[in-house]
This record gives sequence, C-alpha cells and structure tokens, in this order.
Amino acid sequence: MYSYCRVVGCPHPARAGTAKGLDTRFCRTHADHYSRHGSPYKRSYTAKELVPHRKAVRGWLKANLTDRWVENALQRIRGLYDRSGPHVEAYRLAGMTPQERSRAAWARLRAAGVDPLKVLEAWLVVDRMIGADPQPVETTEFRRVQAAKIVHRLASGSHKRWVREVPRMVGVANIPIKEVTELHKYPHSRGRVLRLLGADIEEACGLVAGPAAR
Ligand SMILES: [Zn+2]
Repeated sequence: MYSYCRVVGCPHPARAGTAKGLDTRFCRTHADHYSRHGSPYKRSYTAKELVPHRKAVRGWLKANLTDRWVENALQRIRGLYDRSGPHVEAYRLAGMTPQERSRAAWARLRAAGVDPLKVLEAWLVVDRMIGADPQPVETTEFRRVQAAKIVHRLASGSHKRWVREVPRMVGVANIPIKEVTELHKYPHSRGRVLRLLGADIEEACGLVAGPAAR
C-alpha cells in the first residue's frame, strides 16, 4: 500500500516506517512539524504574537488571585512540582521515556523556583491566543502542545559561558579581541513529552475561565 500525506495539497508520500516515532499519516516534513508544534501544518505562536495576550492574562490574574479556581489550579501545579521526583540535568535526559521526561520537566520548574502562577499564565495565554486567532487549530493536542512549549521554556536548561582573548588582525596590527563562547543545552521541545506535559497543564488549569477572547 502506498498512501499520500494527509495534509491537504501536500504532494508527498506518507512515511513508510515508524522510526523516530514520527506519525506515518504524514510525509517526513509534516510529521516532523506535527511533532514539534502539535499540528502538521500550523506553526507555533511566536513570543511577539503572545505579548498582548500575556498582558491581558497578567492583569486578569492579578485581579482574580483569590478566585477559587485560580487557587485550585495553583495548588494542583504545586502538587505536580512536589510529585516530580529529583532534579535531572538536561544532558541526562537521553534514553528516558516521555513519561520520565515530563516528570523531569516539572522537577526542573521546581528546582528553578518557577512561580506556579507562570504555568497558569501560559495556559491562559494560549487559550486567549487561540480564541483570537482568525484561523485557529482547535484541537486539544495543539492547545496542550502550545502551552507545554511555553512552560518547557520557563525552566532554564544547562548553560555555560566562556570568555577568552583571541588575536585578530585589524589593519596591520594584531589586536586581542574578546571572544565569548556560550553553550546552551535545552531539553528537546518536541514529541510525546510535550503532549504529556500539556495534559498535566490542562488537568491543573483547565477549570480556570480566564480572560479568553471568545
Ligand atoms: Zn506532507
């Protein structure tokens, strides 16, 4: 059997194998996009697109901190922090199952001292963004993945920075120039771990009404 990628208008054949856990309903490009963004064709929202929604959500949260659903969500997020087990360095995540990785993501948030309010904020920002999008993807999966991507970024990865002096020829003179090398190791933001993390976020935050634009 030979089938085509399910994305409308895509002329490429669907992937045959199951290597790398990518979806076989789509061609390689669309399967990869799906894994990273939660939709085979719609890209993730950019930080810039999220700015106005973040402002609105922050204002709403400030005025509704004692709302019982807000309090309940924050308590649930703290529960996820508490049950997440020991902190795992980013470079040790290779070989772990998606379940272990999503737990490790919560442990990173706890270790980084990320305010649970930021997690709730991420969920509500995505909710408001999707509500305001003229061409939204309204699947549970896209919503979860978008929230998980933001939350994933809240906990910093492992970072190193070196400064060294390197001689450079400037005209006829050899001038030492400071060269900065940075190494950032972030856990990969793709695949099943984003779906699991997103499901945790929805379970904790899904009952908060928030300032959705709908
Ligand atoms: Zn395709």
